Amino acid sequence: MLTISDLSNEIAGKAILKGLSLTINPGEIHAIMGPNGAGKSTLAYTLGGRPGYDVTGGSVDFNGQDLLAMAPHERAAAGLFLGFQYPVEIPGVSNVQFLREALNAQRKQRGEEPLSGGAFLKLAREKADLLRMDMDMLKRPVNVGFSGGEKKRAEMVQMGILDPKLAILDETDSGLDIDALRICGEGINAIMRRPDKAVLLITHYQRLLDYVKPDFVHVLAGGRIVRSGGPELALELEQHGYEAVA
Ligand code: ADP
Ligand code: MG
Ligand code: MG
Repeated sequence: MLTISDLSNEIAGKAILKGLSLTINPGEIHAIMGPNGAGKSTLAYTLGGRPGYDVTGGSVDFNGQDLLAMAPHERAAAGLFLGFQYPVEIPGVSNVQFLREALNAQRKQRGEEPLSGGAFLKLAREKADLLRMDMDMLKRPVNVGFSGGEKKRAEMVQMGILDPKLAILDETDSGLDIDALRICGEGINAIMRRPDKAVLLITHYQRLLDYVKPDFVHVLAGGRIVRSGGPELALELEQHGYEAVA
């Protein structure tokens, strides 16, 4: 599904990713762990196509397409979803409006008909239930006044509605209490753990991985993957720290 080969980039002239390679197949859940400043968020933003993240080498293939040649909205329409460490607030735009616009923009990009209001609300209700989110909450402006946990749950509702092929989730667990962590973890499993989908989970901590069991764990340090293993690697990191392992 995703083949990252020798990817390098720079932000404002400073090299961050330095020859990063990673392959993700359909049906797989990969976790990337690593110290602060390693380049984890940079990897997520670069795959999403954020301006200012200048690719200086390497390639990324996404289901047979040259991801790096695509505009951010084309990447999203092709099935790439990015979950952010710090979801933004959008005063004046309700979650329902925002989600419907986002979904229909992606459908249009794929040459599909827009979803009617009724069909959209049915879909939104189904995904909100999955994340134990009240529909009243989705009628409020995007993330305004939401707690950290509510923002992440709203983002998982968004993921459920957009139904991506590959979700890259950057520290979805940050700022979550135990209950919200479990609800988000179960949401990720319900939406994404399918033979035709894949997940790249970026996390500092083992705890999210108790709910979303990764097939592979990678350590990102100094702008590249320095070690890969199975789920046991996350436990090893938790016990011994990055310096001992990487
Ligand atoms: P991580 O998510 O692993 O903690 P980041 O990808 O956020 O790390 O950051 C990797 C490196 O890139 C850090 O040294 C950080 O200071 C630098 N960096 C990130 N964003 C910017 C930016 N907008 N301008 C300059 N340097 C940046
Ligand atoms: Mg960080
Ligand atoms: Mg980060």
